[in-house]
Amino acid sequence: MADISRVLIIGWDGAGNFAQAADTPNLDRLVRSGVSGFDVQTAMPTISAQCWGSLLHGVEPDRHGLTNEIASRELFRDDSPYPSIFRAVREAEPDAKLASFSAWYPINHGIVEDSLGVHKVSMKDRDLALAAADYIRGNPDVRLMFVQFDLPDTAGHKSGYNTPEQYEAIGETDGYTGYILKAVEETGLLADSLIIVVSDHGGGGVNPRGHGSDHPLDRTIFWVAAGPGIEPGSTLPGGVTIADTAAVAVRALGVDAPSSWQAKLPDGLFG
Ligand SMILES: [Zn+2]
Repeated sequence: MADISRVLIIGWDGAGNFAQAADTPNLDRLVRSGVSGFDVQTAMPTISAQCWGSLLHGVEPDRHGLTNEIASRELFRDDSPYPSIFRAVREAEPDAKLASFSAWYPINHGIVEDSLGVHKVSMKDRDLALAAADYIRGNPDVRLMFVQFDLPDTAGHKSGYNTPEQYEAIGETDGYTGYILKAVEETGLLADSLIIVVSDHGGGGVNPRGHGSDHPLDRTIFWVAAGPGIEPGSTLPGGVTIADTAAVAVRALGVDAPSSWQAKLPDGLFG
């Protein structure tokens, strides 16, 4: 496997697999240069803390135990048997630079452990994108960085999921993602970075302005990754879940996945 110096995960909250209907030139570029899947399954229930929790902790919600209320109220236990990707990397690399930028504050409050020295920033989407791009320019040695944008979910709740109004918000989020990708490129980091762009859930399956069910519109998400070892223009195998993102992130950094994780590396991902 080619050397990957850093992993950057960019999450689009509530975007499901609707990006295909939106104007997303930055995502399209990653699709062409990497691997993509538009039928990846997220966790159940299809709610943000449960799903981001699965992505970040490599297990289903019945194990990590996160809900929106819990993540808003409590810190994630430092001694949980289900460590986040940040804790897995921290335990392998005590000095690694780790960063989490989230527009939805409960991720930084209650999903990413608080004792790991992760650089945490929570702001609204546009400011967050600018801050994340600045952080990359100033910290090219970052090993693992997670960024979560909230606009697609906000638009879904306001105007309905899988609607022109939501596509607009997805397009805006693609633009913010572009700020970050530009920083990666201009800093000369593109060649040894693994970049993953993913959603946590869709919406509109049962409730036009809501989500949480196992309806395919709620449950299906997109998952795109580009970087060393990934075949350009390839398609993810079937059966990939949001939790598998955790296995991809640590494998890319050469860190062993905790044995408690349910996350699996998708077949053939790194060639
Ligand atoms: Zn929501």
